[in-house]
Amino acid sequence: MIPTIEKRSKTEIKEFQEEQLRLLLKYLDKNSSFYKKWFAQHNIDISTINKLEDLVRIPVTTKDNLQKYNSDFFCVNTSKIVDYVTTSGTTGKPVFFGLTDKDLDRLAYNEAMSFACSKVTENDVIQLMTTIDRRFMAGLAYFLGARKLGAGIIRVGAGIPELQWDSIHKFKPTYLIAVPSFLLKLIEYAENNDIDINKSSVKGAICIGEPLKNQDFSLNVLSEKIKSKWHIDLFSTYASTEMGTAFAECEYQQGGHHHPELIIVEILDEDDNPVKEGEEGELVVTTLGVEAMPLLRFKTGDIVKAHSEPCKCGRNTLRLGPVVGRKKQMIKYKGTTIYPPAMHNLLNDFAEIENYIIEIDNNEIGTDKITIKIGANEVTEDLTEKLKDHFRAKLRVSPQIEFVSVKEINVLRFPKMSRKPLLFIDKRKRKVG
Ligand SMILES: [Zn+2]
Repeated sequence: MIPTIEKRSKTEIKEFQEEQLRLLLKYLDKNSSFYKKWFAQHNIDISTINKLEDLVRIPVTTKDNLQKYNSDFFCVNTSKIVDYVTTSGTTGKPVFFGLTDKDLDRLAYNEAMSFACSKVTENDVIQLMTTIDRRFMAGLAYFLGARKLGAGIIRVGAGIPELQWDSIHKFKPTYLIAVPSFLLKLIEYAENNDIDINKSSVKGAICIGEPLKNQDFSLNVLSEKIKSKWHIDLFSTYASTEMGTAFAECEYQQGGHHHPELIIVEILDEDDNPVKEGEEGELVVTTLGVEAMPLLRFKTGDIVKAHSEPCKCGRNTLRLGPVVGRKKQMIKYKGTTIYPPAMHNLLNDFAEIENYIIEIDNNEIGTDKITIKIGANEVTEDLTEKLKDHFRAKLRVSPQIEFVSVKEINVLRFPKMSRKPLLFIDKRKRKVG
């Protein structure tokens, strides 16, 4: 079930996207009060934007624009909105989105394609271990996608390992949708309750929220830990509310596949110019086929690397590697640029560490200071030394390490209203990006 456009040549895919882009520009100019003003304000004659290369002439849309002028982005009357969602809002004010009936169809198509990419078929049953309510788009997208594909879905929701296992035994799902670190909790529960995980019906998990791979597509510590105990396939997906689109891995697991019928992808440097092929930069997207709230050149804030060689699965579309980090969380440390995920990966390597949180602050001389607060049941001199050595060897930085109680870290990690655990606190006055 690969859409024909995804198997076409790169030139054909580009021409197809350019045709869609021209339609989008006309639609925005007619229906979006934000973009209508944007085009006028920046003297943009949309009839001169015909190629993907012409896009650079339109200034990018930022999260700030979305927050400030949220309702101006709506292209339809409220009466046409079926579903209301908000973005996660981990930084700043959350943005609200509306979806029309047609947008829900688009979302269903997107997710069905993404499931199919990860080899899920109509004969599969999926257990959903994420939230479907709380104005959250992803859970609903999974439900709609499974329905469109004809697969079964069990909406268990987040957490509660006991209920998850009960459901696995009762309904025999073949795939799980989960945050990878939660899979570790499931393994732990199974081990404590004499459940043989490798005899369950589960053959794979579609993972969201946390990366599974290193930049060269080898397994990172987290997925190695899962796979050493539970012999299932782990598929990465990358998506966001703003994109309304997912990048899902195929069976060859070489990055998330781009669906050219749903979104235009650009990767830009710090000055908003396209990076050289294969270099990392900020992902900037233009949504296609969205009715209520389409976005043009939206800066996602995520640093990624694109891979463009054709994939063994037959798709000729671009693939996105694991997210390197959030642009806002970029840390400049003595001439080295690092992002928190690299540090998470390293900390996950230590079985002694129960939980942790990373704090970034400015020091007296204006550079970034990294403090890692660690909750461990047994603190030894040796652990501190091992951690420091590991950081110096792998990341060429030497952070300050503080041990506090596991409980205290949990309070810091789960602030009220947060949908996901916080792993990173930014106290810098002058932030990057
Ligand atoms: Zn592929």
